Amino acid sequence: MIRKSYVYGPVPSRRLGLSLGLSIVPRNTCSLDCIYCQCGRTTRKTLSRKAFFPMKDILAQVEDAVKGRRIEFITFSGEGEPTLNKDIGKLIRRLKQKFTIPKAVITNSTLLSVPQVRRDLYACDLVVPSLDAADQKTFARVNRGHHNLKVRDIIEGLKTFRRYYKGRIWLEIMLVKGVNDSVEHLVKLRRAVADIRPDRVHLNTVVRPPAEKKARPLSHSDLEQIQRLFGPGCEIAESPVRKRQRKFKGNADKAVVELARSRPVTKKDIERSLGIEPKKLDAVIGRLIRAKKIKLVEFWGKRFYELH
Ligand code: SF4
Repeated sequence: MIRKSYVYGPVPSRRLGLSLGLSIVPRNTCSLDCIYCQCGRTTRKTLSRKAFFPMKDILAQVEDAVKGRRIEFITFSGEGEPTLNKDIGKLIRRLKQKFTIPKAVITNSTLLSVPQVRRDLYACDLVVPSLDAADQKTFARVNRGHHNLKVRDIIEGLKTFRRYYKGRIWLEIMLVKGVNDSVEHLVKLRRAVADIRPDRVHLNTVVRPPAEKKARPLSHSDLEQIQRLFGPGCEIAESPVRKRQRKFKGNADKAVVELARSRPVTKKDIERSLGIEPKKLDAVIGRLIRAKKIKLVEFWGKRFYELH
């Protein structure tokens, strides 16, 4: 299979600085179907790893994208679960040979119980795994995982990965109001996190339009209470830094579509990520909406643009 673009961004983020995103599985290919997913419903729920795209095309695009830019991280994330691509280990190692830029993998942790997947990630500098549930019932409600997945295996996979991996692990917990935020469940999660021993824990909540309308965010004060429960090393994930990119050059329409492909974005996100002036951006957005390339969606009073 060949796709037009495997690279999106660079996107500024508080955690990773200016990050170039790499999307190496077909859109909505995942082992989970999270109710909060900002890419919409999973259309291919699988645990089978495949070489989805030609490696040489992915590497060539990264090479082009980093040229002349001060990228702080190359991040495997995107529109599905990146460890489902069985070339991910080779890709990380090839990127390591070519660039000194640190590499990060954002994963839903479900395949970390597989020894080969753990080995594939050893060469990257940072792994951001997620764990939203500490029991099977909550896992079914929030993550709607593949029927062969068991939460206890996922937690065991994370613990084993921690034992052998030399890089940093920033564990992310996505909290959804009324779904995985009960005290009883949070205490179980805290126990699992203590066993996994990540370098940091990031608490997150639903801030972009989710796959299911019922996925609601927690308030900031709820998150602060939970942060206290988890103790030192636990942070609340903030919105992207207010750092502007240099002035945009190139095809703005194409760049905005690529950015919206990675996640729903606000006008401010686009301005900050791409450095397009607000006036010019209005015209670009109008044109893309009329051409049915992107569409406007509202979530909790905020306006987002996502792929049509
Ligand atoms: S949020 Fe991530 S793990 Fe969950 S369904 Fe979407 S892509 Fe998969």
